[in-house]
Amino acid sequence: MIPLAVPNLTGREKEYLDNCIETAYVSSAGAYVSQLEQMTAESAGTKFAVAVSAGTTGLHAILTAAGVRTGELVIIPSFTFIATANAAAHCGAVPWCMDISQKDWCLEPELVWSSLKRECEIRDGKVIHRKSGKRVAAVMPVYTLGNIPDMEMFRKIADDYHLPLIADAACAAGASFHSKPFGAFADASVISFNGNKTVTCGGGGMIVGNHKDLMDTVRHLTTTARIGTEYDFDAAGFNYRMTNIQAAVGCAQMERLEEFVIAKKRIRAYYKEQLSGLDGISFFPETDGSSCWYSGIVLPAGRRIEDIRNALNQLKEKGIESRTFWKPVHLQEPYKNTPCSDVKVSQGLWERILTLPCSTGITDDELKYVAESVKEIWHSCIQ
Ligand SMILES: *Cc1c(COP(=O)(O)O)cnc(C)c1O
Repeated sequence: MIPLAVPNLTGREKEYLDNCIETAYVSSAGAYVSQLEQMTAESAGTKFAVAVSAGTTGLHAILTAAGVRTGELVIIPSFTFIATANAAAHCGAVPWCMDISQKDWCLEPELVWSSLKRECEIRDGKVIHRKSGKRVAAVMPVYTLGNIPDMEMFRKIADDYHLPLIADAACAAGASFHSKPFGAFADASVISFNGNKTVTCGGGGMIVGNHKDLMDTVRHLTTTARIGTEYDFDAAGFNYRMTNIQAAVGCAQMERLEEFVIAKKRIRAYYKEQLSGLDGISFFPETDGSSCWYSGIVLPAGRRIEDIRNALNQLKEKGIESRTFWKPVHLQEPYKNTPCSDVKVSQGLWERILTLPCSTGITDDELKYVAESVKEIWHSCIQ
């Protein structure tokens, strides 16, 4: 079976893991953790980085640090992995789902702008959603597939409404926009080192940003909010630390980040080149500097999830793993009553996406076989 996206562990992972065992630094104290923080801050273009146990826990912690509390609203795109919404829910907040732009599959800033203007008012310096009476506490765009949306416009919205701007950059390791690395745009950004991401720690995450106070707060919160060296704590903190074992793998992976992103881009370009002749086919959007996390194809408008399932079953018979992609948040059981503003694009898109094998270690022969196989099954998917 050619897998969808598996880790590439052919660098120094083993050597660094051996070092953890030999030195007995297997827990959250250890040199690899701070080394990975430095490497990640550098690649994100930020001054600070805080290592955490997962992308999801990083998002939860940074929303908490940014002041998101029970009963408040966090603006997110509906088209995302469910963890974006869960992070808000773990704060006791409610995700306010909005649509994405066709051009980058990221949260549409014009829509955020017009929804805030139309549906909210300022009371005592707070942004209040009129219908629900809830305070809007943060705006959280997602860097879908490593694409960076119009962050200048998001910056303007965040400044005008005095809202923290937090990026779910979970799948954006290695991404940039007009030569600025991905950490340059939001108040804080969170990446994931899950096994299916471009660089992995097995599991893990990293919060990056330039605001010292915010980053100090989030470090404090993720490390149990301890003060001093005894058993004194000043908040209900989290144990969201990354271990040295995770970080050892992460350091070896980060050494190869550039190479991995080049591989991802090459895979994307290869499928596009080989498959663009197929009737009605389209591909994943790619902003300047995108890290092209996943690759795949999009069926013509009007196709449904059954067509995608049919395609992936046919590919499976040929020994190729492919998958559907993110089902929007507003269609998920825990969020079916969450506030929603215009989700037409998300609604019409998710059922037409098929992700294709895109591991950084995929061989040329495998890529060729996948492309040939997609050509063979294409007509049965779109007829
Ligand atoms: C992977 C991912 C997450 C979750 O990260 P974990 O490390 O798996 O917790 C969150 N948001 C997006 C957009 C992701 O792709």
